[in-house]
Amino acid sequence: MLSASKLRDDTAAGATEPAATVKAAIARAREVGAGRDNLNIFAWSDDDDARTHGTACLGQMSDTIPGLLLGVPVAIKDNIATLTLPTTCGSHVLEGYVSPYEATVVTKLREAGAIPFGKTNMDEFAMGSSTEHSAYGPTRNPLAPDRVPGGSSGGSAAAVAAGIVSVALGSETGGSVRQPASFCGVVGVKPTYGRVSRFGLVAFASSLDNVGVLGATVDDAARGLRVVAGHDKLDSTSADIPVPDYHLAGASPIKGMVIGKPKEYFPETLDPRIRARCDEALERMRALGAVIRDVSLPNTAMAIPAYYIVAPAEASSNLARFDGVRYGLRIKGDGLRGMYEATRSQGFGPEVTRRILLGTYVLSAGYYDAYYRKAQQVRTLIAADFSKVFATGGVDVLFTPTTPTTAFKIGAISDPYEMYMSDIFTVTANLAGVPAMSQPIGLLDGLPVGGQFIAPHFGEMAMFTAAYALERAQSGEVRA
Ligand code: GLN
Repeated sequence: MLSASKLRDDTAAGATEPAATVKAAIARAREVGAGRDNLNIFAWSDDDDARTHGTACLGQMSDTIPGLLLGVPVAIKDNIATLTLPTTCGSHVLEGYVSPYEATVVTKLREAGAIPFGKTNMDEFAMGSSTEHSAYGPTRNPLAPDRVPGGSSGGSAAAVAAGIVSVALGSETGGSVRQPASFCGVVGVKPTYGRVSRFGLVAFASSLDNVGVLGATVDDAARGLRVVAGHDKLDSTSADIPVPDYHLAGASPIKGMVIGKPKEYFPETLDPRIRARCDEALERMRALGAVIRDVSLPNTAMAIPAYYIVAPAEASSNLARFDGVRYGLRIKGDGLRGMYEATRSQGFGPEVTRRILLGTYVLSAGYYDAYYRKAQQVRTLIAADFSKVFATGGVDVLFTPTTPTTAFKIGAISDPYEMYMSDIFTVTANLAGVPAMSQPIGLLDGLPVGGQFIAPHFGEMAMFTAAYALERAQSGEVRA
């Protein structure tokens, strides 16, 4: 798959036909074995649907400025509403559900000339870190098919890693774009909370949810974010702040930028080989004139416990709507209550059920103060840690490993708590609402390692400037 910028320029110049691009993407999906019985990258895909979108994108050609993603196929996670393919969140409970409206991010993609290309597989309702918890079976990592692609946006990361598309949409509540990006050796961006509209993103934990972008390169991801970001009157939490040209961030120098290295993200227990990859990346940035500074985010250790109270609490409320009345699956039972019980107990998988139970418990009278309120207080402390290093510590961006391990084997982690620990370095940014991204920084036993940048609220430009510079340095280009 060509880069988004090359595809866009070639399409705008008339040198590439969108129909040929779609054909190539369909052929590539076949070639890598993207289907259900193999890598299982897509929850829903339809070649004719992709072809129709390919033809429609040509409408953009008449514009004086053809869109930033003109003629670029973009895969879309199965929890983002589209009109022409099902939106099922990797769940049986939504089987057969086709949304009557479209997510704002999908409208924006189409307005920029992009070609929606399939709905990607995911952990059910985005709860998971491996894409093993999908009602439609696990997705395999295209780089090592006996391993997971990460999750919950594993299908989107795999679609990019397999070279089917150069851009994909995912979603994040606690790391679901960055962690799979790291496991699949691609770039994954979680924007500032409020930077991208959530209208049409099926809610998991509304105060933490974001639409994120995966790309084969920093530029692919930057273009994708440029297109989907912005205020939306349909989402009152979206910010009315102008969207910078993220894809031009690479023109700014990294020289003089202060990059914080938070000690809590480099614990004694960190795999020394992951530490080494991070140190190499930091060294490259230092060589380009960045200043590396040791910093501390003292409340980091409390992030996982706080997240696993706040996220299930909000999920238990958001998922109450799937009751067999309005959406997807309905299983007959004894009366109304029996129908609710049968639909919900058969419609939801074990991880989603666990979260609903946990969330209902922490919100119940008598436990609310002990758990939910406490977790919200901890969340405030974590956000304050970030504000402090950015505002008074003079740090422009932070750099950390994205995940404590590389992609693990399918079936290797059965303990939910161990699975939750996959997100130890990523959930903090969701709790604080700050932007963060993962990009490949090398290999460990042949598997990709991800490095993470974290920036202040609406500081995506600084993050991208650093990311472009690091990516250039890794490819041997020495421009600072
Ligand atoms: N893995 C985390 C969870 O299971 C995060 C998921 C996400 O970001 N959607 O909740």
